[in-house]
Amino acid sequence: MTNKNQAIPYKIFLTEDELPKHWFDLRPDMKNKPAPMLHPGTHQPCTAQDLQPVFCDGVISQELNTTESFIEIPEEVRNFYKMYRPSPLVRAYCLEKALGTPAKIYYKFEGTNTSGSHKLNSAIAQVYYAKEQGITSLTTETGAGQWGTALSMACAYLGVDLKVYMVKVSSQQKPYRKAVMETYGAQVIPSPSDTTAVGRKILEAMPDTGGSLGCAISEAIEVATTTPNCRYVLGSVLNHVLLHQSVIGLETEAAMAKYDIHPDVIIGCAGGGSNLGGLIAPFMAKKLRGEENIRFIAVEPASCPSFSRGRFAYDFGDTGQTTPLIKMYTLGSGFIPAPNHAGGLRFHGMNSVLSQLYHDGFLEAKAYPQNEIFEAARQFARCEGILPAPESSHAIKAAIDEAMACKERGEEKTILFGLTGTGYFDMAAYMAFNDGTLSDYIPTDEELAKGFATLPPVKE
Ligand SMILES: *Cc1c(COP(=O)(O)O)cnc(C)c1O
Repeated sequence: MTNKNQAIPYKIFLTEDELPKHWFDLRPDMKNKPAPMLHPGTHQPCTAQDLQPVFCDGVISQELNTTESFIEIPEEVRNFYKMYRPSPLVRAYCLEKALGTPAKIYYKFEGTNTSGSHKLNSAIAQVYYAKEQGITSLTTETGAGQWGTALSMACAYLGVDLKVYMVKVSSQQKPYRKAVMETYGAQVIPSPSDTTAVGRKILEAMPDTGGSLGCAISEAIEVATTTPNCRYVLGSVLNHVLLHQSVIGLETEAAMAKYDIHPDVIIGCAGGGSNLGGLIAPFMAKKLRGEENIRFIAVEPASCPSFSRGRFAYDFGDTGQTTPLIKMYTLGSGFIPAPNHAGGLRFHGMNSVLSQLYHDGFLEAKAYPQNEIFEAARQFARCEGILPAPESSHAIKAAIDEAMACKERGEEKTILFGLTGTGYFDMAAYMAFNDGTLSDYIPTDEELAKGFATLPPVKE
């Protein structure tokens, strides 16, 4: 049923019957498929067998899928989704008014659950497949903490044990994040730690290190591969994570269809690409089939510009250079964003599907320095009420810029962006911004060259 002639409400919801029953994979619609993941030793395409020591079987078949467009969401996962979904699709009337723009702005808000972000959509699916296979414990890493929190919630719900390796500085700076995870029953270990061989080796060499995401990943993978009935799970970058996040785009598509709304521009922030990939999936399919001409924009920090200044090459997913090789836009696995960077989205690479789409001109990219991001966050908080995560604020900034361009040209375009989460645990960054002590840092070409020098030599 479409309500063409009705006024569009502030929030568009879906009934339980209208919730998606399948996830959507974009790969079957792509003429140029993303290049296959390669085994780091042999440089041959990864097989399911190669991935089995690390990942759960259910997600491996999803990771390697290129032919099935629709994959059923298991009933138990759908029931969990019902507790916090559908997420609202909001018409940003107040922001439109504040900007004085003729553009119509919509955002899909994923911050209504306790983890405060979209990451729960994939966490619950990944824990479900682990449990189905008889896996009794999981390991992962977390930096800012959203992924660790989401996974703790999912593990508590399904009764699976969880060890979270949390970057040491982050666990010191965000003690409340750690407390939330522990409340849900997860064991949170500041990384590097003495619980793994790789952690002990790093501690011996650098006893005072605050840790890094790359190091936490290496610790989590070591535990997963040396503990019986244990696997490792990842919250972004990989294609099965994008698949689970397609629930965001499918709900948006269904809600928009109810009021016959057609977005002209779709915007998302991009760290490893999971929320952006999930939001745009069904809309990008229409563009690839030539049914709709929509612009898609990925927004990233100027201090970690994987798309806008990266190389399209095979690279490792971790600093320790142990993961399979992924063909993606990357700054090199040795790239580390400047220490003053507070805005999240720090990963050096980008999901392979999005990388291929960017390479083929279907997706645009924009990069902003962090003070502009926090200005947009503040403006949004003051008129729309929600305190956004710094990551999400990249999408807000680009949406505001698009809306202002519409104002200049007198265009009534429809803009949709993904508001991935809330920023309650990012108040140290907000405090620095409020005090005027947040600084911008844009890496020079020479600095980026150091990251590119860590790219592995791969013959294609
Ligand atoms: C993790 C996270 C992101 C970035 O991850 P993607 O995989 O690129 O979506 C963005 N926003 C929030 C709130 C996050 O927690």
